[in-house]
This record gives sequence, C-alpha cells and structure tokens, in this order.
Amino acid sequence: MEGWVEATVVENKRWNQRLCSLRVTADELPEFRAGQFLRLGLEVDGELVARPYSLVNAPHEAEGEFYFNKVDEGPLSPRLHSLEQGGKVWLSKMVAGFLTLDDIPPGKRLWMLATGTALGPFLSILKTEQVWQQYQQVMLVHGVRSADELAYSDLISEIQKQQGENFVFLKSVTREIVVDALPQRIPDAIAAGHLEALLGVTINPDEDRVMLCGNPGMVEGCVTQLEIKGLKRHRRRNPGQVVMEIYK
Ligand SMILES: Cc1cc2nc3c(=O)[nH]c(=O)nc-3n(C[C@H](O)[C@H](O)[C@H](O)COP(=O)(O)OP(=O)(O)OC[C@H]3O[C@@H](n4cnc5c(N)ncnc54)[C@H](O)[C@@H]3O)c2cc1C
Repeated sequence: MEGWVEATVVENKRWNQRLCSLRVTADELPEFRAGQFLRLGLEVDGELVARPYSLVNAPHEAEGEFYFNKVDEGPLSPRLHSLEQGGKVWLSKMVAGFLTLDDIPPGKRLWMLATGTALGPFLSILKTEQVWQQYQQVMLVHGVRSADELAYSDLISEIQKQQGENFVFLKSVTREIVVDALPQRIPDAIAAGHLEALLGVTINPDEDRVMLCGNPGMVEGCVTQLEIKGLKRHRRRNPGQVVMEIYK
C-alpha cells in the first residue's frame, strides 16, 4: 500500500484495562524527530481506518512504540488495543508535528506538561541527547485521574537516576489521593503557584520554554495561565515560548 509500511507487533503491554503500549518492528520504520506523530491504521471491513499517534521511542531506537488508551466508542483504538504479538498494523510513512525541540526557541528550563497518554512524545524527547544539551533543567509534569494511569514509572526513574537535579518529575492525580502527587489539574497547579513553589523558580518568558500535550482542556487552561506570566504560543513568524499538540 503506497505511503504505508506494514509493521509487526512485538509486544502489546497492558498497563491497565484501557492503557497499553504497542511495540512494533518493520523492515524500514519511518524517520521522525522526537515529539512527532504518524498514523496507525488497520483494515476494517476492507477499508483502512487510521488515526494519528505519537511515537514514544526515540529516533535512534530500532522499534516503534505507541502509547494509547482504548476509547470504547472509537473505531480504531479498541482494535489496536486487542492486537497481540505477531499481529499486523499499518504505519504511515508520513510523520508530522511541531512538538519538537527544533520547533521552540532555546531557553534555560524546559517544561513538559502532559495529560494521560500524551506522556508518550515527551518520553521520546527525554531519551534523546539533544534535550540535555539544550536545557539546564527539564521538568516533566504528568496529569492523570487515578494512580493506575501513571505508566512508564520505571523509565522515568531511570531518567531521574541518570540526570539527577537536571530532571524533575511531578505527577498530578485528580481523582484520588496519592502521596507525592499534586491533587489538582495542571492549569490549576500553575494558577496556584504550586509548580513554581515546588521547584523554587518563577516561570518567565526569558528562561522558560513550555511544551504542552494532551486533552484540549489542559492545553487551553495552561496557555491561559502561561499568558498571565508573559509567555505566548511560538509561531515561526511570531516567536514565543510555548508549543503544543492537542489529542482529540
Ligand atoms: C496529533 C495527534 C496525536 C495523537 N496521539 C495519540 C497518542 O499518542 N495516544 C493516544 O492515546 N491518542 C492519540 N491521539 C488520539 C488518537 O488519534 C485517536 O483519536 C484515539 O486513539 C481514539 O481513536 P478511535 O478511532 O478509537 O476513536 P476516534 O473516533 O478517533 O475518537 C473517539 C472520541 O475519543 C476522543 N479521544 C481522542 N483521543 C482520546 C484519548 N487519548 N483519550 C480519550 N478520548 C480520546 C475523541 O475526541 C472522540 O471524541 C492523537 C491525536 C492527535 C490529533
């Protein structure tokens, strides 16, 4: 099929009943920059049904990885969720997206704010050398509803071990009390000054860069709060400090 690569499932890891990570291999995986997405597709009743998914693996890694949740009423994600080792899935050769380090002007601190499965593209970026060369400090904030949605904790701990004080990880869990987690949504945590207080910094347009990824409410809420601090969306012709990707 022109424009598509057939990939084989190496593993479909289930984090809970809805969340999973699909690892795939193919003769030639599409090239991409960390933070970008491609389309995953399956044939359903003779038609290709495809949706965008961020790559979780880093560009230098041999296998493709995708982190997603099963949306019961959706035509694709329940089918992707039920794939097993040896199953086949189509990958678009075309990759896209501006949630990359090359799409945001350099700064001192980089904030990665994610809800749910939007953690994925940030893991890809965190696995590159580029992010540690470009920023003095990187803060990853992962917002979820319940503790069983806090996936990839081993990988995050590994990055913490390697990077020490250069890397800070914060979780926000909104529907249950979790030790060490912020109890409110990420935009509310910014508004209340909790992110800044926890890290002892003041977010400002000279030093801070922000990447947002996830549901529209979180992304829009964060943009509003960041604008109050003088940060604005980055566009090539009108440079700013904030880049984003909305999953919808
Ligand atoms: C640029 C981009 C990158 C994306 N990357 C990812 C990714 O890495 N992981 C991922 O899980 N999803 C991602 N999505 C969403 C994904 O493309 C699908 O929409 C989602 O998996 C549902 O697919 P579906 O065909 O089953 O249902 P769809 O018909 O696509 O959607 C059904 C409903 O579910 C909502 N929905 C979409 N995404 C989610 C979600 N993550 N959680 C809950 N509800 C959702 C939609 O708004 C819609 O109302 C991305 C979307 C975009 C635009």
